[in-house]
Amino acid sequence: MMKRDEILSWLHEQDTERLEILFRQADAVRRAEVGDAVHLRGLIEFSNICRSNCHHCGMRAGRVSLARYRMTEDEILASAGEAAARGYGTIVMQSGENPGLDDRWLAQIVSTIKRRMALAITLSCGERSRHELARWRDAGADRYFLRFETSDRALWNRIHPARTHHPRHRLDILHWIKDLGYETGSGVMIGIPGQTWSALAEDIDWFRRLELDMIGSGPYVPHADTPLGRAFCRGSQIENPEQVPNTEIMTYKVMALTRLVCPRANIPSTTALATINPAHGSELGLQRGANVLMVNLTPLKYRPLYEIYPAKACVGETPQAQKERVACLLAELGRVAAVGEGASQNYLVRSRSITTIGAKEVSA
Ligand code: SAH
Repeated sequence: MMKRDEILSWLHEQDTERLEILFRQADAVRRAEVGDAVHLRGLIEFSNICRSNCHHCGMRAGRVSLARYRMTEDEILASAGEAAARGYGTIVMQSGENPGLDDRWLAQIVSTIKRRMALAITLSCGERSRHELARWRDAGADRYFLRFETSDRALWNRIHPARTHHPRHRLDILHWIKDLGYETGSGVMIGIPGQTWSALAEDIDWFRRLELDMIGSGPYVPHADTPLGRAFCRGSQIENPEQVPNTEIMTYKVMALTRLVCPRANIPSTTALATINPAHGSELGLQRGANVLMVNLTPLKYRPLYEIYPAKACVGETPQAQKERVACLLAELGRVAAVGEGASQNYLVRSRSITTIGAKEVSA
C-alpha cells in the first residue's frame, strides 16, 4: 500500500523520466484491473440554479449576471434518449444546488428513465439531505457523485461559505451516499489557491480510505467573476512554496496516483483537463490512469450557461461531432468504447462482499 509520504514525494517529483515510470505503472494497473474499454458517460447539465456561494465556482448564487435555467422533463428525457441511442450506458445528471428542486420531480424523472431506457443514472446535484438522497435512490438512481474538493477543513471553510441549517462537511455526506447503497464518486480540484502539497497528499489518501468507486479530479480553472478567481488573477498565491500549482502535469500526477491507490475505481479524464489542454488532455488522461470519458449531451442553448469556469472544452460541440472525435481518439489509443452500464469494479467487488457478510450474518 502506498503511504502518504510516498504520495507526497511523487507529487513533488519533477524529473520527467521518473514521472514516466509513474505514468506507465498507472497505465499498467489500469489495464490489469479495469481493462482497455473506455466507459462513455452522457452528461446532462440539467440546471445551473444554485443556492451555494462557493468562491471558486462561476455558478455561485452571488453571480447575479448569469442567466439561470432548468431543463424541462421533456428536454431531459430527450437528452437521455440521445445517450441510449448512441450506446452510452450511463447518464450523469448534474446541477447546481437548486433550492427549488422538488425531490419528487427529480425522483419521477429518474424512475421514468429507468423504466424506459437501459441506462445507469449518476446524480450529481451537490449537498442534499439524507431524505432526498434516499428518495432518489429508491427511484432507481444508481450512482452519486459529490467531490469533497479538499479534505483540508480550513481551506474548505474559506472557499465554501456555510449555509444555515447545513453544517455538514461533504465527507460526512459521502458516508450517507455509500450507506444508501449508491455507487459512490468523489474527487478534488487540483491547485485551489491555498491548497498545500501535504493537503493534496492527504486527499489522495482519503480516496483510498473512503474506498471510492469513482474518482474524478481536475485542475482548478480560475473564473474571473468569482472571489477566488479575482484573488488568483492578482497572483496572491504565487509566492507561497507550499502552494500546489493548478497545472496539467499536477493533474496527471494526481490521476496516476489515484489509480495506484484505488486500482478498481472508475476514473474519468475530466473536462477541466481537456479545457487546459484541448489538443491532448483527454487522451493523455486516458494513458495515465483514466478509463472514463464524458460526452456532453446538454442542449447546446444551455451549455454556455453552465459556466463553472470559463472556456469549458466542447461547449459548442454537437453530440454527433463529439461521438466522432471520441471514436478517433479511442482508435488512436488502440482502446474501445465499453458496452453496457459500466459499473465500477470496485463497487461490484464491494457489493459482493457486503452480500457475503450479510449472508453469513443471517446464517450465523
Ligand atoms: N453542484 C454540484 C455540481 C457542481 S459542478 C456540486 O456541488 O457537487 C462539479 C464540479 O465542478 C465541482 O465539484 C467542482 O469540483 C468543479 N468546479 C467548480 N468550480 C471550478 C473551477 N473554477 N475550476 C475547476 N473546477 C471547478
